[in-house]
Amino acid sequence: MRLHSIQQSLWLLFHVLLCYCWQVHAQISVALPEEEIAAEQREIIRIPIAVFLLDDDNDGSLSSARTIDDVQETVGRVNATWYRQAGIEIDPIAMERVVVPVDLLEGMKWQRGFGRDFTSFFRAIYQGQMQDISRLEDEALIYAFYVQSLGGGINGMKPSGVNSFFVVDNPSVYDYRVSSHEIGHLLRLHHAMDSSMLMFSGSNGMTLTTVEQTVARYAAEGMTRSLDNSDR
Ligand SMILES: [Zn+2]
Repeated sequence: MRLHSIQQSLWLLFHVLLCYCWQVHAQISVALPEEEIAAEQREIIRIPIAVFLLDDDNDGSLSSARTIDDVQETVGRVNATWYRQAGIEIDPIAMERVVVPVDLLEGMKWQRGFGRDFTSFFRAIYQGQMQDISRLEDEALIYAFYVQSLGGGINGMKPSGVNSFFVVDNPSVYDYRVSSHEIGHLLRLHHAMDSSMLMFSGSNGMTLTTVEQTVARYAAEGMTRSLDNSDR
């Protein structure tokens, strides 16, 4: 075989390989499901969240046993849940312990005949008694409160009329799931019937339907607009 012909063969082999590699590459490139491509193209909506661990001002017996590291990990997972599925970034702008009058913590625990009293807690914030919390009112769109217990065997709660939710120290499901679920309520979502869903009450389900994603994004956008319009 002449040298020229060997060169030609090698050149041909090179092109065949190049073509093959290109096809493999193209197959990998189109392997992304359409839904994920759509999710990637959505604009990310950033929701600044202020996170507090509640301690009592008495002997510490009603203080949260969680650490800042615990909630940091939890909030990271909460963000992953909302970011990946709905394009909503849950961005912590504060993460700290705050001392709360012990009677307010006691009032939040369920009592037969009385229910729960969240009103006194929020009134105290609005009256400036807990400035560590109220100082963030122009920046935070959601407040997360990690509390030792709310009594009544509940994992978490979003009291009506406030942009806040509570999560107890030892929930019966993953704490990031409780937190993600309560944020779902804050973003106008109601309970789902399927235990694999994030909005099912009392499971470790994490899935949001396409409709829920749309509703939550709409609510989140509304929240961010309220921040834009606020007087500074
Ligand atoms: Zn719920």
